[in-house]
Amino acid sequence: MLPSSWMNADLHCHSSVSDGTLTPEALAARAKANGVELWALTDHDEIGGQQRARDAALALGLPYLTGTEISVSFVGITVHIVGLGFDADDAALKAGLAATRGGRRERALEMSDSLAKAGIPGSFEGALKYVGNPDLISRTHFARYLVEAGVCADTSEVFRRFLTEGKPGFVPHRWASLRDAVRWISDAGGAAVIAHPARYKFTANEEHALFTEFKAHGGLGVEVVTGSHSAAEAVRYGEAALEYGLAASRGSDFHSPGESHTDLGALPELPGTLTPVWDVLQNRIQRPQ
Ligand code: AMP
Ligand code: MN
Ligand code: MN
Ligand code: MN
Repeated sequence: MLPSSWMNADLHCHSSVSDGTLTPEALAARAKANGVELWALTDHDEIGGQQRARDAALALGLPYLTGTEISVSFVGITVHIVGLGFDADDAALKAGLAATRGGRRERALEMSDSLAKAGIPGSFEGALKYVGNPDLISRTHFARYLVEAGVCADTSEVFRRFLTEGKPGFVPHRWASLRDAVRWISDAGGAAVIAHPARYKFTANEEHALFTEFKAHGGLGVEVVTGSHSAAEAVRYGEAALEYGLAASRGSDFHSPGESHTDLGALPELPGTLTPVWDVLQNRIQRPQ
C-alpha cells in the first residue's frame, strides 16, 4: 500500500458561498474530474455550503471532510485558520462564525468610502454584483469589480495597488481571536490548521509566537503544500511542522477558473516525512456508501 501522503487530498478551496465563483456542486465535480481523492470546501467564516458540498461529493464517490477558513487577528495581523472534520451542527462553532462574519458589511461600506476618496466611486454596489452570500462581502468581490471597472488588469494588480495596508480601500478589521477560532474547531471535533503560513508578514519572533500559541490552544496542523507556497516555502513549513509537532495539510486555495493559479488537486505531493492531517482525521472522513 502507498503511504497516505501520496493521496491527492485538496483541503482548501472557496465556493460562491464565500469569495469563490463556482457553486459547491460545480467545485465537487471539478475536484472529481481533476483526480482529487479527498476533498473539503473551506469557505471564509461560513459553513452554509457544507451540506451541498458533502452531498455532491458523496454522490460522485468522493470522500469528504467538513471545512471552513476562519479569519483571525493575531498581533495586529490577519491570519487564516482552516478547520477540518468538525461537526457542522455544532452550536458554538456556528455562533462563532456568525460573529466573525458580522462586521463585513460595515467594513465594506468603509472600503467603498475610502476608494471613493481615491477617485473610484460606486464600489460597494459594484462589489455586491459579485456577492453570492450577502453576509460575506469580501475584498475579493471588490477586486473583481475594480477589474470590471477597468481600474486594474487583474485581481493580483488590485491587491498590489489597493485594499491592502497603506493602500486605498484598506480598512483595518478585528477578526476572531486565535484562541477562540482554534477552540470552536476543536470543540466541534475537528482539526485546526494554520493556513498558508508563508503569506503572513511576521517577524521570526511573531511567527514563533503564532505556532506556539496555536499549539497550546489545541491546534493540530499546518498547511505545507498550498497554492500560496513556492517549493522552498513548502520545505520550510514542512520543517516547521516537524519542529512544532504538527500534522501537515495540502490544499489549492482555489477560488475561480482564470483567477486562481492552482487548480483543484493540481499540487505537489506532501513530503513522506510528514504526518498528513487526514491520517489524524480518519474517523471524521465522510465516505460514499
Ligand atoms: P477578506 O476576507 O475580505 O479580507 O478578503 C481576503 C481574500 O482576499 C483572500 O481570501 C483572498 O481570496 C483575497 N486576497 C487577499 N490578498 C490577495 C492577493 N494578494 N492576491 C489575490 N487575492 C488576494
Ligand atoms: Mn478568499
Ligand atoms: Mn486564506
Ligand atoms: Mn482560502
